[in-house]
Amino acid sequence: GNKSINAKLVLLGDAGAGKSSLVLRFVKGQFVEFQESTIGAAFFSQTVALNDATERYHGLAPLYYRGAAAAIIVYDRTNQTSFDQAKKWVEEFQAQGNPNMVTALAGNKLDLLDANKVASEEAQTYAQENGLFFMETSAKTAKNPAPNPSGMFLVDRPS
Ligand code: GDP
Repeated sequence: GNKSINAKLVLLGDAGAGKSSLVLRFVKGQFVEFQESTIGAAFFSQTVALNDATERYHGLAPLYYRGAAAAIIVYDRTNQTSFDQAKKWVEEFQAQGNPNMVTALAGNKLDLLDANKVASEEAQTYAQENGLFFMETSAKTAKNPAPNPSGMFLVDRPS
């Protein structure tokens, strides 16, 4: 039979980093160029079906860590300030959130290679030092590093 789990996930990061776009990519497999910015946090809940694709989209609500199974802190790779802010989000989150929560750092807009301002190695090192998963993403292309049908990327826990 179908097995599914319902997991709450919170996305944190500066306005313009791409939180709404990543949610939209994940939930609907879509991208829109002129997505309205979300300040601070995007929050959604998704039923992840292992066989069948049933989903529940709870929209974007104010920041609310409690009850979230996982958090993704998003920055825009083309914007150094956005990365600096992401570090603040990490600090705040680690101070306030549940320490058992799975936390990831996502460098978004990987498709804008020429405009990159945040070196992958720097972000990777930061993530490792702070016990975060790290991935670079493009909500636009959903292409990198390896697509699955939802357009999200499965990564291994950093050792
Ligand atoms: P939020 O404020 O963090 O929710 O960010 P949005 O999802 O509203 O995205 C901000 C802007 O960046 C929008 O114009 C998006 O279309 C654009 N954007 C988001 N993700 C990507 C991406 O991966 N690549 C590119 N090229 N643009 C993106």
